[in-house]
Parts: sequence; C-alpha cells; structure tokens
Amino acid sequence: MDARAFYRLTAPTEWAGPPETYSYSSMKQMAACLRQWQLGRSRYEALQRYPERPSEPADVGVLVHEILSQLFRAMAIAGYPEIGSDAFRAAVAKVDIRGTASKRIAELDQRALSNPRAAGFRIQSTAHNIYNKIAQAFRQEYMAVGRQASTLALGPARSADVGTSALSRREVLELSGILSEEEVRHPSLPLRGFIDLLVRRGGETTVLDFKTGAPQPQYREQLRLYALMWWRSTGDLPATIELRYGAHVERWPLTEAELVSAEREVEEKIWRYQEGLSAHPAAAKLGPHCSGCGVRQLCDVYWESKANGGGGKGARVDVEVVVQSVMNRGGFIGREPGGREIAVVCEEDVAAMHEPFVVGERVRIVNAQREGDGPAVQITRAAEVFRVG
Ligand code: SF4
Repeated sequence: MDARAFYRLTAPTEWAGPPETYSYSSMKQMAACLRQWQLGRSRYEALQRYPERPSEPADVGVLVHEILSQLFRAMAIAGYPEIGSDAFRAAVAKVDIRGTASKRIAELDQRALSNPRAAGFRIQSTAHNIYNKIAQAFRQEYMAVGRQASTLALGPARSADVGTSALSRREVLELSGILSEEEVRHPSLPLRGFIDLLVRRGGETTVLDFKTGAPQPQYREQLRLYALMWWRSTGDLPATIELRYGAHVERWPLTEAELVSAEREVEEKIWRYQEGLSAHPAAAKLGPHCSGCGVRQLCDVYWESKANGGGGKGARVDVEVVVQSVMNRGGFIGREPGGREIAVVCEEDVAAMHEPFVVGERVRIVNAQREGDGPAVQITRAAEVFRVG
C-alpha cells in the first residue's frame, strides 16, 4: 500500500481475532486496551498488520536493552568472570555485539522500506555507536556485579553439551544445571513464553530473567507465569523466581498454591480477552496511554473523547478539523468538531508531503505542535496527517 492510500483512514479489511497463543506481553497490551491490540494486528488490504511509525531513539533503545540482557546472561552462565580474562572475552564473543547490532540495524532498515509510515526512515546510528552505548552501560554495572560475584554465582553448568534429545527438558536441566532461552508452553491453556535462564541449585529450580533499566513490579508477575508453564509442562515446581538488573537482584520463593492461583487468574483473563476480541471493534479503554497509542488515528472513541484544547506553546497535540480554506501562504483554516476555527500552519516542504488539503475534508493531525497560546497548530515533520472517510 502506498503512503497516500495508507493515510486515508479505513476500517480493517480483516479484523484480528483472538491469537492462537497468548504471551505475557500480549496480555499486558490487551489489559491496557483491547482495541489498541486488535487495531494493531488487523489486516488493511495488503498490509498484514498496522505498521508502527519507526523511531530512531525507540528502536535503538530496544536494541541496546536486548543486547545488554544477552550480555548479562552470558556473563552469568560463565560465572561472572573478571573483566579482561579469557572467560570474559569468550562470553563477549558469544554475544557478538557489533555483529548482532549490524544485523538488527539492517533488519530495521529493511522493514522501513515497506512501511508506508517510514517516510524515508533509516537508522542513523552505526553498529559502532551502539557498541559504545552498550559498553558504557555495561562496564559500570558489571563492576558492581564483580564486587559481589560470589553471591551472584549460579553454580557452573555441569556440561556444556548434555547432548541427547531423548531426555526430557527437566532431565536436561537436572544434568546440565542451567538451561537458557527456553521456550515454555502451558499444556492446556493457549499460553507460551521464553525463559531467559533456568538454574538447578541444591535440587531446586530457579526461573531467572535479566532486565535493564529500573525495577518494575510487573516483572514478578511475568516470571510467575513462566514458572507456572515450566511446572505444568515438566512437573518440576520451581522453588524461586529471580530478577537480575545487573548487580541488583530481586528474588521471591514460590509455592504451589501461588501458581495455582496465578493459573486461575490467567485462564480467566484469556477467556475474557477471547470474548472481547470477537467484537469488531473490541472495547476501547481510554486513559493516559492513549497519547502514545500508535493506532489512535483509527479510534473514534479517542477523538470523540478529546477536546482539541490544552497544552501551551510547543506542546504536542492531536487535532481533528474540517478544512475551511485552501492552503495559502503556509497555512489553512480548519474548524474543530466543537465549531471553533483554528489556524493550521506548516512549512512549504512539509506541506508538500501532505497536500492537497481539500476544502470540506476532515483530517486528523497526530503529533501537531501548538503555536502560541491562541487557536493555532503547526504540522511539523514529526506530525502525521490522516484523511477521514
Ligand atoms: S486511542 Fe486509547 S482507547 Fe483508542 S485504541 Fe488507542 S489506547 Fe485504546
């Protein structure tokens, strides 16, 4: 679909129904707003799902966090070796920071080529820039890890290659002491996930995840779900769940009763989401998260709920107007749903990306910038202009 056709809003040509399997992150998105999840995964003519607008800071941030987590996992498996040691270099080599970054940058650039929202987007950061960001963030945190490596030690993997596919996953864990990046599924619920690391110490299993950034209370719930899936699929009830943010560790014991209760809760959620997603559109849940919703241009409930006012000069705002005048000297007059007239201005090169503005046409401008304190907004390069109907 070309960009011009994409920016004319239409309902999905095929609405997304309930997924075959649920993950922790998909359920988190559904809990925030079922309609957002559904609109993002529905089909729009040739587009299999609604494209996200690429953003260099967001894409690079995700990439840096992903590689940092891989690095900490590799160090934990290697027993937190000293910086500069052979074991340390081997663990770094396994992650291949520059190679992984180059590959992911190429994937992001490739994806942007077929994205009608990309507008010529290419990642400006190089693999070298990303390597430097990771090295900086890693060094400081790893030095803190080094000071308490003895308390963080996982116990050595007993064999790098246990080497027989005839063994169950539980037996492999028992023999090797460690399993990393393990896919788990619930045997009867449509639920799956990937466990960063499973560790067997003193006859007990720990489900462990590596995070970056500030501790988040919801990660505990995520690990509990992973522990539930491991238990139900192998019969091995994990004794502990553990979160590692570099040197900072959070650890909780687990009980069978807790997992049974988590299971009831997740089952009930899945049934609720399945029912909710059979409506087209699914229910909308308005809230502060709407300002960052990538499909809000499609959500009538959002536009009906909002007044175009608010925010001082320079504030990012979404406005809906009916065009009242032709483009003249870098702007046109628009009428808001409440009847107020506002000036919509934009520089010539930006206007060329969005023209023509036809009198009588209704447009939704996402991420406009408020001009002064009066009724005026600017369409900058950060904005998107969607035609309604
Ligand atoms: S704008 Fe808000 S209510 Fe509408 S789909 Fe997005 S998150 Fe849901």
